[in-house]
Amino acid sequence: MVYLSLAISGENSTYMKIGMISYWACPLTRFGVLSSGGMSVYLYNLSNNLAQLGSPVDIFTRAHREKDERILTIHKNVRVIHLLSESANDHRRGVWTFSKRMLQFISEKKLDYDIFHAHYFYSGLIGIEVSRKLDIPFVQTFHTLGIMKERYGGISSVGRKHDEKLITADANGIITSTPFEKNDLQTFYHADPGKLHIVSPGVNHNVFHPHNKSFSRTKLGLPKAKKTILFVGRIDPIKGLQLLIEAVSILSGKYPHFQKNFRVLLIGGDIASQVFWQHPEVKKIKQLIVKKEIECCVKFLGSRPHSLLPFYYSASDVTVMPSVYESFGLVALEAMASGACVLASRVGGLRYLVKDGVNGRLFENGDSLDLAQKLWELLQDSKKRTQFGENALKSSQAFCWDKQAAKIQSIYKTLL
Ligand code: UDP
Repeated sequence: MVYLSLAISGENSTYMKIGMISYWACPLTRFGVLSSGGMSVYLYNLSNNLAQLGSPVDIFTRAHREKDERILTIHKNVRVIHLLSESANDHRRGVWTFSKRMLQFISEKKLDYDIFHAHYFYSGLIGIEVSRKLDIPFVQTFHTLGIMKERYGGISSVGRKHDEKLITADANGIITSTPFEKNDLQTFYHADPGKLHIVSPGVNHNVFHPHNKSFSRTKLGLPKAKKTILFVGRIDPIKGLQLLIEAVSILSGKYPHFQKNFRVLLIGGDIASQVFWQHPEVKKIKQLIVKKEIECCVKFLGSRPHSLLPFYYSASDVTVMPSVYESFGLVALEAMASGACVLASRVGGLRYLVKDGVNGRLFENGDSLDLAQKLWELLQDSKKRTQFGENALKSSQAFCWDKQAAKIQSIYKTLL
């Protein structure tokens, strides 16, 4: 590997060559569209921060289109290597060809790595294969677990759970986002506790920090006077958007002035594409909005550049994260780092991030009435919103990416 400025020296050196395996997510896709979300953001930030700590990183991912450039340098000492995958819909085969191509690429280019880090279960399967063939340890981050998707999202996949068990048994180390995820891996996957390390994802405070509310509204062309409720996320049943729409319809039915004075902004999805509007979840949400007659106060804005999101959080009065399950919930953390008042469901990683009544509020999972009540209380109480926002900003300081990346790097070190 030829890299610029390598900081190699002595026993305490942090220098190591890292191969990220990410079959599913590429850090160069548009966040918030289709399946691109937290995992892509995580990869981007973790890799850049590891490189800043002195370790060059190669991210192996699938080529988006056949003509995609193979290797792109996205940051000093961070490269994205796109491998062609002929089996777009058959991921079992895709994983197999990806492993083969990755090994071939490493051999052809005479690359060597100290450690591999695989993301999501598909990459974990590749991790098993390449780590065995090259005799290099691999670390796994699941991001989400099949068993949780089944429990909360009603999506059953026996094959996925089986694969996750294999990966859990084989990986040299596993990084979990929260103590809850660690517990799930021990309970449902019989993970060896000695392999499990809790390191939460981080937030980039250079991007996510508070802005003046009025300035943000002007910048985004949002009305100054209306109270604004914000949702950010992929439009997917697991994100619980239906609950928010039901809660808004409860409030709109109860308070006659609601529609005139309040506005709900939905960020996520490629609204310029037909595919978006034909997605079953989008159709369901759209129909619900029409049925409840709240079209005039709910707006689909589509996906927004990451760099603009802090302005949306700052411009809004309450950011709602109504997910029926979240292994972590990056959107909540980014909103908190932007000083926003967050109202989230009491599930998964959101329970870890949001301390109810301290740095935000939690509502009971699946309960749109509870969501409506808590949303209304927050919308009526500007002092509480400010207090929660200030405390959220303080809490977010514990999740700086540079610190989180250093913790992950020290886990790698113990495995070399
Ligand atoms: N995101 C974005 N623009 C959008 C929608 C989402 O940049 O229009 C980003 C958002 O900032 C967050 C990620 O996508 O970093 C979503 O992460 P989260 O963990 O909340 O959800 P996931 O998609 O991983 O389930």
